[in-house]
Order: sequence, then C-alpha cells, then structure tokens
Amino acid sequence: MHMTNRKIGDEVFDVAVVGGGASGTAAAYHLTSAGLSVALLERHDMNTEASGRNAGSLHGQIQHEPFLEEGDEWARGWLPALRFLADSLDIWDGLSEELGTDLQVGKKGGLLIADDESQLAAIERKVAFENRAGIDSRMLSAEDVKALAPWITDDVVGGELCPIEGKANPLLVAPAFARKAVAQGAVLMSNTPVDGFREERGVHVLRTPRGEVHARQVVLTGGDGMPALGRHFGIDLPISSGAVQVSVTERVDPMVAHLVYYAGGKLTFKQAQSGTLLIGGGWPARRNAAGEWVVNPESLRANLAMATRIAPSIADIALLRTWVGIGNGTPDHSPIVGEVPGHPGVWLGFYPYMGFTASPLMGRILSDLVRGQDVGRDLAPFAPDRF
Ligand SMILES: Cc1cc2nc3c(=O)[nH]c(=O)nc-3n(C[C@H](O)[C@H](O)[C@H](O)COP(=O)(O)OP(=O)(O)OC[C@H]3O[C@@H](n4cnc5c(N)ncnc54)[C@H](O)[C@@H]3O)c2cc1C
Repeated sequence: MHMTNRKIGDEVFDVAVVGGGASGTAAAYHLTSAGLSVALLERHDMNTEASGRNAGSLHGQIQHEPFLEEGDEWARGWLPALRFLADSLDIWDGLSEELGTDLQVGKKGGLLIADDESQLAAIERKVAFENRAGIDSRMLSAEDVKALAPWITDDVVGGELCPIEGKANPLLVAPAFARKAVAQGAVLMSNTPVDGFREERGVHVLRTPRGEVHARQVVLTGGDGMPALGRHFGIDLPISSGAVQVSVTERVDPMVAHLVYYAGGKLTFKQAQSGTLLIGGGWPARRNAAGEWVVNPESLRANLAMATRIAPSIADIALLRTWVGIGNGTPDHSPIVGEVPGHPGVWLGFYPYMGFTASPLMGRILSDLVRGQDVGRDLAPFAPDRF
C-alpha cells in the first residue's frame, strides 16, 4: 500500500531523528531536554538492532587488533576518536541517575591479557598512545594481573589496565533514553522506515510507508541503515557491515570484575551484573540457506576456546545462548559526525564498532549541533565528506 503524500499529523517537528538505537534515543532525549519538538522514527521496534544486541562493553582503549593491523600512524590519527570514547565514558558515570533507570553500569577497568612475551612490546606502544590522549592506562606484570584477576590463566605474562573501561546492560540503555524523551514530549514512531526525502520551502520531508513526517532539521542515526539513508541525501557513506556473535553463560558467583581482552586474538569477556558471563570479540556469524544470519559454530568454538584459554575455570560453566548482530565500521575506524554536505540542517551521527560506548556523547553532540551550540571538540576528523 502506498500513501506517500499522506502526512502523519499536521505538526512540523523541530527535529526528526531517524533510528531508535542508543544514539538516536540519546539525541531525542537531549533535544527534548532543550525544549525542542522531536519525532523519533524507527523502521522496526526501538533497540532491536546493534544497540540491543551488543556485548555491553564500555571501551576506552585502542583496540589491540586494529592497532596490530593498522599500526602506529593510524593510532596517532585515531586519538580524537579515542578521546570521544573517553568523554562518553565520563557521561556513563552519572547516566543511571540522570535517566532514572539502573543501567547496570560497572566501571572497574579493562584488562588486556598477554600470554606471550612477544605481545608486550605492542601493548606498551599502545599504552603510550592512550596516555597521550589523557587516558591513564598502564602496563601490568603477571603478578599485577593475577592480583586483579585471580581466575586468570597461569600462562599470563603481563598486560594492560585501562581504568576507565567497564560494562552496561544494552537491553536497558536505549529504552531508558527513549522513555525520558517521550516524557519530555518526543513522539515515537516504530515500524516507520524512512525511504525517501525531499525539501519543501525550507522544511525537510521524510517519506515513510505510513505517510510523511515534516521537520525543520533531521538527525540520522541509522546504524546499519546509514548507507541507504545517506543515498537519499546524495552522500556515499563507506560504512561496512559484518554480522558478529556474542554468547552468554548461566549465572555464576561474582568472578570477573573487569572487561577482559586477549592480546592473542579476538576476545571480550566480562560478567554482567546478573552473574552471567558474556563472551564475544567480533567473531563472524554465517548465512543459512535462506540467506539469514545465524550462529557460526566454528566461530563459536574458536571464541570459547579463547575464553577458556584465558579463564580455564569457566570450562564447566553452561553456555545458554549465542546471538548475532550486525556491526558496522568505517575505513579509518573513526566516527562520522556532522552536516550532510549540501543539506543544511541534516546531521549524521555514527560511531563504528564501539557505538554503544559512544552513544551518550553522540546524543549530546547531535543535540548541540542542531541547536547551534559549541560541541566542545574539533569535529574535522569526523567530517562526513572526508572519505
Ligand atoms: C554483536 C555486537 C556486539 C557489539 N559489542 C559492542 C560493545 O560491547 N560495546 C560497544 O561500545 N559497541 C558494541 N557494538 C557496536 C554497537 O552496538 C553499535 O555501534 C551501536 O549500538 C550503534 O548504535 P546506533 O544507535 O548508532 O545504531 P543502531 O543501534 O544500529 O540503531 C540504528 C537504528 O536505526 C534504524 N534504522 C535504520 N535505517 C532506518 C530507516 N531508513 N528508517 C527508520 N529507521 C532506520 C535501525 O532499525 C536501528 O534500530 C557491538 C555490535 C554488535 C553487532
């Protein structure tokens, strides 16, 4: 059924936010806090894509794998993106209180574990870059690691502590932002995919199968849907897409206080507030015969082998579930934040790979951009037209 010219209500909103993940709901929260009228459009239900499927890690260090792959020059250029995460991590501290919901935020720090002496030199260089960005990470001896994480393998030779890292519950965050935004007047439109755009006498008109939404400004926070949204505005966004999986175990007694990574391969490992262990690290899913993304048993086996290598005592803990989500990246691993060239009043907000961590600051910055406020940082490294 096509109803392309029907308008949903008579209102011209101050802002239409496209995308009901953590970034879009955070933007809607900040915009309504500032008194603007907001429509929040989501093609499915709120929080059903990456923001509701991720591993809940709050990252504040340069990820070891891209550091090894991309090298020191890349790391130097990436420091503004790292600073973005660090400043967002500051917001996480008070977020539960601000939103009136316990988001199960824990920030005991992150541990990057080495089990081979040859891994330490790269970690040391990485720590130096992080220190340059104002992050107080430091090298640890094997004894230091053991003292912080007694469950760790006896093979540990040392590692890194990044004190600002942690975890939060992804099932709670975007809904908490959305609830606040609605309480402040935002209109939530689920099952409303934006599939076209035009400008009419200075007003932005978003086309959806349910009718049109009119707004003075537009914020695009579409995650995996960003390339398609960008095309409506004539911008080619080089955002890559990869299905990856996360696993959860049964509940166990408090054991792992930190967010844990492994220098020898893809692993993130943490214990949720509920007691379950979350095991991920970006292992690829696979497509089934019908073309749907499903769990890849080989990835699962390799991921679990890596987790038990680092934490041998978890070998007997039952795995409950593994799920798949679509993760997104950019060629330089930096975010895309700014105005769409040639479309004043249309703003993009996308943080690759670690956008859950970045979402509280992303929402605030997008709101500041819409309102013409100082965003408190140089956005040039994140310019949409840099590619
Ligand atoms: C398995 C997995 C594990 C991850 N682990 C972590 C982690 O531990 N820590 C971390 O920081 N990050 C992690 N990430 C990345 C993180 O989840 C994302 O970067 C972040 O959630 C992006 O948030 P967002 O709001 O920008 O996008 P999304 O959460 O993808 O939300 C975008 C929304 O826009 C909607 N949309 C798209 N196109 C349209 C359209 N045309 N019209 C209407 N709506 C549209 C989508 O349906 C979607 O709901 C992980 C990702 C995955 C997949």
